Amino acid sequence: MEENRATQNSIPTSTAYWVDGNDIIIKTSLNWDIFADANNGVGNKTEEIVNRYIWDFIIDDKTRRWLSGFFKRVREDKKPVIIPYRCDTPALKRYMQMTISVESEDILMVKHRVIKTVPMQKPVHFRASISEKSIKRCSVCNRILIDNDWLEPEKSMIGEYVSVRYGVCEQCESLT
Ligand SMILES: [Zn+2]
Repeated sequence: MEENRATQNSIPTSTAYWVDGNDIIIKTSLNWDIFADANNGVGNKTEEIVNRYIWDFIIDDKTRRWLSGFFKRVREDKKPVIIPYRCDTPALKRYMQMTISVESEDILMVKHRVIKTVPMQKPVHFRASISEKSIKRCSVCNRILIDNDWLEPEKSMIGEYVSVRYGVCEQCESLT
């Protein structure tokens, strides 16, 4: 499969935000907005997120519990954790890495880095839904649940526009 490193021109491949002890976003890295723009609304602009709870931006309980489990662990152990995840766009599989580390006291730095991108065999536009009938999608590895199997989108028969409800698959849950 063809690989495509996300290093063209000035598009940053990593960005970060910081949360205080109450999980309120206190700042972002200087390139945050460029990163958000380059990623087509995958991120929110700095002015929209600073001084708000990180949890306001995570829709489902399972993903919240998943991430807050890591926050708790890093604050307790004072040791960084590195977590692989995916943040796909309709046309690209984006392999990402999140590094959570203690900055000072209870302040955490959460850094996101693009490791590599791989074109989708066919584009898929996912739309978040809360309907029980929607297909489940893991917000960490971005796979979808079809007949009890977590599959890559192109390995399933889904169409181009798909409503999904977000959660965390068993494999990603076992990372915490
Ligand atoms: Zn997963």
